[in-house]
Amino acid sequence: MQYASIPKSICDEIEKIQRNFVWGDTEQGRKAHLIGWDMCCQQKIHGGLGIKKPHIMNEAFLMKILWNLIHKPDDLWCKVLLSKYGRNNDIVSSCISQPYDSQLWKALSKVWHSFQRHVVRQIGNGRNTNFWLDKWVPNNVELLHSASRDHIDTTLSVRDVLNQDGDWDVRFLSENLSNDIVSQVMALSAPTDVDGPDTLGWIGTNTHQFTVRSAYTLQHVIAMPLVVEGDRKILWGWKGPHRIQTFMWLAVHERILTNARRSKWGVRISPTCASCMREDETTLHVLRDCVHATRVWIQLVPSNYITNFFSFNCREWIFDNITRRDLELPRMDGKLPS
Ligand SMILES: [Zn+2]
Repeated sequence: MQYASIPKSICDEIEKIQRNFVWGDTEQGRKAHLIGWDMCCQQKIHGGLGIKKPHIMNEAFLMKILWNLIHKPDDLWCKVLLSKYGRNNDIVSSCISQPYDSQLWKALSKVWHSFQRHVVRQIGNGRNTNFWLDKWVPNNVELLHSASRDHIDTTLSVRDVLNQDGDWDVRFLSENLSNDIVSQVMALSAPTDVDGPDTLGWIGTNTHQFTVRSAYTLQHVIAMPLVVEGDRKILWGWKGPHRIQTFMWLAVHERILTNARRSKWGVRISPTCASCMREDETTLHVLRDCVHATRVWIQLVPSNYITNFFSFNCREWIFDNITRRDLELPRMDGKLPS
């Protein structure tokens, strides 16, 4: 996984094993998959279980090799790869493969375009960075896409856009770019020789250094946009048995296998609660609103809080319960009220 591109069929098979493990499927029988797999693969803080997708992990590992090829060109393995397949191209600008190249080089070439989206040139002396074609203004794409004139000189380096005093050439910038981009450029210090050569920075970390974890996150966001649903740190930070955390996670998503849920899935079953026979058995009904559950809660919840307690939706209710400290302990020696 770290040194070769894993075929999609194998990644799919690994994911199938992951899924079977999470939901308890066996050769003999399939259990209900209560939450979509893409949600399970979201980070915990975004409502998932933080399970890694193999093909994205694979891409992140390959990006690490690209990063090292650029930053450690004197290592023996880098020298071998670059001299054999680099074809005198600057790997920062391109990574092209031929059908007869090694599997590793072909894999690197495949992931190179995605890698490019996550790097930004850090300006030193500005001589090796192309003003229009390289990405060097933080949080922006290449300036080529923002040019306000039809004709531009694509051989211009960042260093070339300085006036005689060594400051940014404001006139040139204003004539060629919109005001907001001019201000973004002006916010950067003008390149000088003292700053050394231009380098490549990673956008996924504050230090601009590459990490596999940040590469995974960046690639994962492209593949599946993040679902932002409140701060799940509360849920996973709760000090208690893991199986209860997992139960709460299912409850927050309202995916406990209740009658309402099962009837939605087309299983021939009544959605009604079998205990009270009055309402549909939803997650919130079974945990809070069923008459039998309510009887327990009113013994525990402070009286001045009861109205709020029963007005929350399922997600709010669970998060609120995790953080509240003033629920009273049962007063009947562990026996539930009759
Ligand atoms: Zn009920």
